[in-house]
Amino acid sequence: MRNDKYHVIVVGGGLVGASLALALGRAGRRVALLEAREPDFAELEQGWDARVYAVSPANRRFLDGIGAWPDMGRVGTIATMDVRGDAGGRIAFSASDAGGDADALAWIVENRWLLAAIWRRLRDDGVEVLTGAPAAAMSTTPGEARLTLADGRELRAELLVGADGANSWVRGQLGLQASVKPYGQSGVVANFICERPHGDIARQWFTGDSVLAWLPMAGNRISMVWSTSDPQALLQLPPQALAARVAEAGGRQLGAFETITPAAAFPLRLIQPEAVVAERVALVGDAAHTVHPLAGQGVNLGFQDAAQLAALLTDAPDCGDWMLLRRHQRQRREAVAAMQMGCDGLYRLFHAKLPGLPWLRNTGLSLTNCLAPLKRQFARQAIG
Ligand SMILES: Cc1cc2nc3c(=O)[nH]c(=O)nc-3n(C[C@H](O)[C@H](O)[C@H](O)COP(=O)(O)OP(=O)(O)OC[C@H]3O[C@@H](n4cnc5c(N)ncnc54)[C@H](O)[C@@H]3O)c2cc1C
Repeated sequence: MRNDKYHVIVVGGGLVGASLALALGRAGRRVALLEAREPDFAELEQGWDARVYAVSPANRRFLDGIGAWPDMGRVGTIATMDVRGDAGGRIAFSASDAGGDADALAWIVENRWLLAAIWRRLRDDGVEVLTGAPAAAMSTTPGEARLTLADGRELRAELLVGADGANSWVRGQLGLQASVKPYGQSGVVANFICERPHGDIARQWFTGDSVLAWLPMAGNRISMVWSTSDPQALLQLPPQALAARVAEAGGRQLGAFETITPAAAFPLRLIQPEAVVAERVALVGDAAHTVHPLAGQGVNLGFQDAAQLAALLTDAPDCGDWMLLRRHQRQRREAVAAMQMGCDGLYRLFHAKLPGLPWLRNTGLSLTNCLAPLKRQFARQAIG
């Protein structure tokens, strides 16, 4: 290898790309991370981030392992999930139902704290961070991948990784077709202070035409993710009215709410590319897949892409070896397809209007709640 050639160039410094670059940098690989704009963490302590993630125990271990688990002071814990159907169905499960040694189903972490925890380590761990000049062109040969930046710089690597989000530029350059299915819904997110303690319980309601989730944050705060076909109805509400609407939608289980972040919305789509590897290129994170957020697993799938690809590349003699890339694709295909089908199936089950279906889906939930092996399966799925 000539010394101007990287082992890996990662395009996109979101959570998935940055964590992959960090894992590879710590393993001694020569890595460049290209990000359109360097994130600014100067005002990290100010306010709260409405975009939060439920990070699974497996991904907490991955982030701990690369020294990027954020300060515990701002991290919430999901000890129990309490899920209700639209006609009396209910299932509740805790980490102990999974039968392992996990003491939480997931941890709730704000987007920018997680991103800051990763980015603050990048340069110290040997990652070359390139910001300010977007990618302008890419090409591959059987021996290497080449990337040209808008400022004229030419980079070469054994492997180029596209971690550049749902509208991936890298995926487009490869000419890979992706099936994109809009759900006709948006996820509306906002944070609230609640009157009563949340008890580390994540609460979720399938209402028939929307899915509402309250995720327990640190202190007496919750983060809402409301998947709805009418996001404007929530976005246009002044803070007090929004708080009242959200508290009411959950039957005021946690008393009155006070809004602490304005509501924001993001479109929900199921994205499935025809492949996630090509000659000298791999896709990870939202570039490789998106899912409905009703199980909160979008970013967890992405972190697992990063963890498993990093493990494959740590000692690889050639990071872009085709057999290795095929192995990566095989390893991830089943987990990603299972999560996409599971979330899509639940979405359809709870949005279909067929007669008798509300009874069936609610009875199914409540039955699962009573059957220990099925419930264990639910809990294990949540832990990841
Ligand atoms: C408002 C909002 C709320 C969300 N809430 C949740 C939630 O509650 N739970 C959940 O699991 N998921 C949620 N998601 C989805 C979640 O954010 C994504 O699944 C996750 O961020 C994917 O990470 P990623 O690193 O793959 O992609 P991204 O976070 O999209 O990062 C891609 C990065 O690539 C950079 N980039 C793009 N193009 C280029 C280029 N050509 N050159 C260089 N850099 C480039 C971008 O600047 C960006 O930093 C939410 C999304 C939004 C928008």
